Amino acid sequence: MGEQVLAAVRTAPSTTELREFPMPDIGDDSALMKVEVAGICGTDVKLYGAPRSDDPVIMGHENIGIIASAGRQFTEWQGVREGDRVFVEHYVGCRKCEWCHKGEYRHCFSTDWRYNPDARRYGYTSAELAPHLWGGFAQYMYLPWNAVVHKVPDNVSAELAGIVTPMSNGIEWALFDAGVGYGDSVLIQGPGQQGLSQVVACKQAGASQIIVTGTSRDAARMELAKTLGADSVIDVQRDDPLEQVMDVTGGRGVDVSLDCTSGAGPIPVLLGIDAMKRRAGVIVIQGELAAFPDFPVKKLTEKAITIKSARGHSYRACELALGQLSSKRFPLDLLTTHTFGLPEVDLAINAVGGKGEQDVIHVSLLPWK
Ligand SMILES: [Zn+2]
Ligand SMILES: [Zn+2]
Repeated sequence: MGEQVLAAVRTAPSTTELREFPMPDIGDDSALMKVEVAGICGTDVKLYGAPRSDDPVIMGHENIGIIASAGRQFTEWQGVREGDRVFVEHYVGCRKCEWCHKGEYRHCFSTDWRYNPDARRYGYTSAELAPHLWGGFAQYMYLPWNAVVHKVPDNVSAELAGIVTPMSNGIEWALFDAGVGYGDSVLIQGPGQQGLSQVVACKQAGASQIIVTGTSRDAARMELAKTLGADSVIDVQRDDPLEQVMDVTGGRGVDVSLDCTSGAGPIPVLLGIDAMKRRAGVIVIQGELAAFPDFPVKKLTEKAITIKSARGHSYRACELALGQLSSKRFPLDLLTTHTFGLPEVDLAINAVGGKGEQDVIHVSLLPWK
């Protein structure tokens, strides 16, 4: 055939080159996806500036596309056909371990390079490994038999489906990890795509009070948080966030604190603990800190607070997220603010990292733009 696939390859820190790869042969048990949208998140910003290895990598781990060709067995096993729009999780699970059977592919050791040097993960795996197309910043992506595929509902556009990953994380962290439900007060720190998705998850779950924090730069995002259902927003540069939380909760504090600051250090963790006056609350944190000197263990124990770690999403969270998008109950298309083409990967990642474009919420890379 000799057909070539164009991809944006990270070749060094903060460096991208357009390269061509051979169109892979699709066997009975594999498929090829034509990439429509690769969503970009804070993880991309970190991986772009400080890659895990020197290998060339096609980034893009939040991928939506159309099944362009699929082998017979792949179609049977996966329940999707040529022409279907799908969301592919970035973990390529072993499908044999307990975690995979539970739909918790994020915990499968096979997807983690610390345990398995041959781990396959879209957006992370070396492009030197045949058939090379292991990331969404490319016209096509290769799907082996064990790719984790979700069918996108017919009424959800590719661009809207592009926010399924933050929405899945919202459901996983707020509902499954923190157990947010009817009548809860929730503090969501950070009004980016992740924080806004948590607003929707908490609102849908029946939270009675949703408080979102951000900086002065986040004015547009804070407005959107209110549109999506936040009851109060706090500019942490203008006001004392703890005072404000106590003020708007009538001194009762919150039941749950969700850190969506993408690793802003100890401040959101400490605010989460202090904002909890009642007993037995939950704080969900993101592990970017290697160490946490003077961690207030005593305060934590006195309030009987549980700490949970935000780490990706389960299969079920993705399915619920797709259902949320399909319901059109919230104007989630307001999150999809910026799109870029393959030659603009650098601009796109910088936009997510707060450089260049203004009022960025969710950024999509469209390989065919
Ligand atoms: Zn991501
Ligand atoms: Zn597994």
